Amino acid sequence: MDFVLSDEQEMLRNNSVDFIKDAKVAAWIEHAYQTKEFPYDFMRAAAHQGYLGMMVRERYGGAGLNFLDALIAFGPIAFASSALSLCVLAQETLFNSAVRRFGSEDQKEKYLPRSVKGELFGCVANTEPGVGSDAKNIRLKAERRGDKWILNGTKCFITSASVAKAAVVSTRTAKRRSGHPGTTAFLIDVGDGMPGYTLDRVEEKIGQHGAPLCQFTLTDYETRDENILGKLHGGWKVFDETFQRSRVFIGMQAVELAQRAFNEMVFHTSDHKAFGKSVFDQSRPEIANLHLQIQAARLLCYTAADFEVHANPRFVEASSLAKLAGAEAALASTLFYFQKCGALSYLLHSQSSRLLLDALAIPIYEGPSEIQRLIIAKQVLEFIKHVRV
Ligand SMILES: Cc1cc2nc3c(=O)[nH]c(=O)nc-3n(C[C@H](O)[C@H](O)[C@H](O)COP(=O)(O)OP(=O)(O)OC[C@H]3O[C@@H](n4cnc5c(N)ncnc54)[C@H](O)[C@@H]3O)c2cc1C
Repeated sequence: MDFVLSDEQEMLRNNSVDFIKDAKVAAWIEHAYQTKEFPYDFMRAAAHQGYLGMMVRERYGGAGLNFLDALIAFGPIAFASSALSLCVLAQETLFNSAVRRFGSEDQKEKYLPRSVKGELFGCVANTEPGVGSDAKNIRLKAERRGDKWILNGTKCFITSASVAKAAVVSTRTAKRRSGHPGTTAFLIDVGDGMPGYTLDRVEEKIGQHGAPLCQFTLTDYETRDENILGKLHGGWKVFDETFQRSRVFIGMQAVELAQRAFNEMVFHTSDHKAFGKSVFDQSRPEIANLHLQIQAARLLCYTAADFEVHANPRFVEASSLAKLAGAEAALASTLFYFQKCGALSYLLHSQSSRLLLDALAIPIYEGPSEIQRLIIAKQVLEFIKHVRV
């Protein structure tokens, strides 16, 4: 294990820092916050820089980075904006990742080149009204009729669905039995005018503005065998493995948000005095603890990414640790920053309230923190059994 970034990794990170420092990017971030609109201009620029295909192979137009290098390149984007980085995640670590890891050659050729260029946006849809964490219980039904599959049901809280032209959708194709969730992933075309597809609504949210959160319904939506992603009844594997990988990026998104709030807090508390002393001087132990928490979470993200690259059997545990630690660091850091700005925080659109409201989503999506703890405990038990003498 190497704790120092290689020259190439430094370059990837520096390129991303240069990208987010561009005045246009700052303007797009603010525009997305103010208007709550999907950041098309930002996404096109991100595609141009290769962020929408970081891990997609070169033959489909991607950058072909490994998981760790992609994570390093991604970090600064999340530092600049959680919301816009969520749009990137939905495209690259959810949609592209599911297609590139489970797609047939035809599916990859049909979707990946356009997705990488930002010409087609995708989404990954698992959550349903009343079915979130208990993901094996999804109900959206896929029934075989002749040589067709007919899909009926609703998906909710889906990032980017309102702009998506393609969706990876989890469906029920068999009854759930012990050890057999009975679900199948379909890769289907969606969007305005697609027969059987209706965008029900785009939700109003309290944070992460610009990353649309949507509900859609499929009504007698017709599709075929060639649209199955992975294997028939193999949907759990597609979604589980896709989320396991994306979770590490969510962990990094959280760490960068925590770091952003931390930095802002240090600037503010160093300048601001109470009782004749800077607030920084009066908060040194808490600030040191927070720094410790953020750096530990960052290392867990890098560790998980390194485990993915080396197919380490403890990757699943590491990805949940990264997501959990990142989520906790983001909450702690944004709340601390909010508190240390006093009444200034409570003003509408204050920077500290914006970061805090962005952070609140992270312990919820891609598996709440309670679920990450359950995964970690299960994995720990498995591995402890092996080392017991
Ligand atoms: C901004 C945002 C973007 C999202 N994007 C997507 C997307 O692109 N695709 C997609 O499919 N979904 C997406 N989601 C949905 C998200 O994945 C779900 O919200 C999440 O899985 C939790 O499901 P739920 O909201 O139904 O909560 P529930 O599963 O109902 O859980 C509610 C709460 O109950 C507690 N809880 C639940 N189970 C347990 C347990 N076993 N033990 C202890 N406590 C428990 C937790 O505190 C949890 O937060 C998104 C959500 C948000 C907020």
